[in-house]
Amino acid sequence: MQSPHSTLKTFKGEMVVLVKPSPQLGNVSKAMDGNHHKVEANVLLLGAENVGKSALTVRFLTRRFIGEYGDIESIYNHIDKTDGREISLNIWDSLYPQSCETTESISDKQLQWADGVILVYSICDRSSFEVVRQQVQLIRQTRKLSASAPIIIVGNKRDLLHQRAVSSEEGRLFALSADCGFFEISAAETYHGVLLVFHEILDLIKESRALKKGMAGIKGIVRSVSAVFGKKWE
Ligand code: GDP
Ligand code: MG
Repeated sequence: MQSPHSTLKTFKGEMVVLVKPSPQLGNVSKAMDGNHHKVEANVLLLGAENVGKSALTVRFLTRRFIGEYGDIESIYNHIDKTDGREISLNIWDSLYPQSCETTESISDKQLQWADGVILVYSICDRSSFEVVRQQVQLIRQTRKLSASAPIIIVGNKRDLLHQRAVSSEEGRLFALSADCGFFEISAAETYHGVLLVFHEILDLIKESRALKKGMAGIKGIVRSVSAVFGKKWE
């Protein structure tokens, strides 16, 4: 059933659920992997305006590139089926600036909501690359995003090679130095690159959850061992 915060939208005949950003979304249940639970993942798209955040989102949801997207901020829900498993993916296609404080700042609400972040710049627009750099720094400094949440940097508009202003190497090196994933793609030209980006972030989210579970398990063992020894030594 639809919640009061969601509406159905069609993109060229395909149906997706559009969820309006609301404070309640901060409490979207982070259901964990398992046979009886639905797996849910929140992915936030950040970056300057006009870099193709909406193009990437719509390409992933509908496989199509429609050219103009308008300035709408939306959270889309999409059920993804990979490895025979269903995952309910919420994609927050944000508007730039993402917060009204300073141009590069990001709202705490967005970062606390996200299980993973995709930071987009245009390879033809150096200033959009600078925005990504500043936003990565900000995310690391403010620590509002969970430390284990993956970040992927995407250089978009790869089809406009003659207008390139940021080399692949520079993008890749920065991503490497900031411990982020990296892709160069063209949302306009192919669906495949966009699919790789979303599947990579989903894989990384799953990995980070598995790691957290593992850590919780180890902590539990340490706790029980010390409880046993603690009692013996009393
Ligand atoms: P947003 O503001 O970051 O959401 O950017 P949009 O998705 O609205 O895209 C901004 C403009 O760039 C639109 O005119 C898109 O058609 C165009 N665009 C997006 N992705 C690409 C791409 O890969 N190649 C080219 N040539 N244009 C793109
Ligand atoms: Mg947009």
